[in-house]
Amino acid sequence: MRGTDTQVGIVGAGPAGLVLAHLLHDSGIESVVLELHDRAYVEARVRAGVLEQGTADLLDGIGVGDRMRSEGSVHRGVNLQFLGRRHRIALSELTGGKAITVYGQQEVVKDLIAARLAVGGELQFGVDSVGLESVDTDRPVISYRQAGHEHRLRCDVVVGCDGFHGCSRHAVPRLRTYERDYPFAWLGILAAVAPSTDELIYAFHDRGFALHSLRSPELSRLYLQVEPDEEIEAWPDGRIWEELQVRLASEGWTLAEGPVLEKGITALRSFVAEPMQHARLFLAGDAAHIVPATGAKGMNLAVADVVVLARALDTWYRTGREDELRAYSATCLRRVWRVQEFSMWMTMLMHRHGDAFTRRVQAASQAYVCESEAAARCLAESYVGAATL
Ligand SMILES: Cc1cc2nc3c(=O)[nH]c(=O)nc-3n(C[C@H](O)[C@H](O)[C@H](O)COP(=O)(O)OP(=O)(O)OC[C@H]3O[C@@H](n4cnc5c(N)ncnc54)[C@H](O)[C@@H]3O)c2cc1C
Repeated sequence: MRGTDTQVGIVGAGPAGLVLAHLLHDSGIESVVLELHDRAYVEARVRAGVLEQGTADLLDGIGVGDRMRSEGSVHRGVNLQFLGRRHRIALSELTGGKAITVYGQQEVVKDLIAARLAVGGELQFGVDSVGLESVDTDRPVISYRQAGHEHRLRCDVVVGCDGFHGCSRHAVPRLRTYERDYPFAWLGILAAVAPSTDELIYAFHDRGFALHSLRSPELSRLYLQVEPDEEIEAWPDGRIWEELQVRLASEGWTLAEGPVLEKGITALRSFVAEPMQHARLFLAGDAAHIVPATGAKGMNLAVADVVVLARALDTWYRTGREDELRAYSATCLRRVWRVQEFSMWMTMLMHRHGDAFTRRVQAASQAYVCESEAAARCLAESYVGAATL
């Protein structure tokens, strides 16, 4: 058994854990990040790709924005399409100049890992049997195994950034959870073809929702609404492209096809665990909450949590004041529920669901977003993150 000490023990090297380690480093606070998987696996995981203005600014601020600025793209608008009719939401015009940056989550993670290792930060991959002990005390411990050895990491504070399937959340006693499943899932593909659009297209169609997103000048990311219990084997590449062609079709516009590099089906879920802290144990990102991907908020919300936590820890270490740390859960949950509301609204606006009455109400909402500048501004502010800063 090997024992070591650190100020902040971080479980999970996703966006939440890695950004937190950087912010703490900038405040002179030492941390150790423990990650279940190996580096190659974590860096290859294709997930989100839309960064709010605040997230992109933060990555710049902590010195990991160079590649995002050169390889990512800034989008000042987004397209909503209803039954073939395309309507542009002018994000920047409606939000006083704010925009989103399209840059893959796995690229963000690569940049964060490289920068963390470059400053000699402790980041350990391939740990297993992670357990949290003494979480009621002011000296919590993370126990874990690595390369066949048992370790104990004694910390001032432990932060669970280990995603929805991690172990940290289960160490918080009297946790209350709120959950909603949706009667559909997303089939997502990464395709080796130049995007057929400069800005994202969210399409509502009688056959279901489709999304044309982008990753780079050579890579497109596309999604289809499918049944929640759909098997990926039922979707050969040809069927996926056929369905995308139908749902994204718009007069005078062509969808280019290319080899499918990756495909998978992801459930859509809304989930919140409260509170996001217990004594010296804190939860951040997907460990505490999940939003349906329609609003493109998961990674942004994870980053927003750790910004609050890093500030509170900085105050605590510098002055001994605990008020910000004690308010961590309440501070984050205000944003989390606001984002839950937006993500659920976008999901219900864009997916095919419900009975004939629901469909008529949905059509009225869709028309309102296209016809009212106030409604479009609400959407734009939430989408770029201006409404939740
Ligand atoms: C399959 C999938 C597809 C997604 N697609 C989209 C999308 O298209 N658009 C969108 O906006 N959002 C998407 N999301 C959501 C977005 O990617 C997440 O919100 C974001 O990754 C949250 O970051 P995080 O750091 O909180 O958690 P994660 O990124 O999940 O990171 C958690 C880390 O903890 C590690 N870990 C887990 N358990 C342990 C343990 N016991 N010990 C140590 N380490 C552990 C994991 O390996 C992982 O590296 C997707 C999520 C998933 C799961």
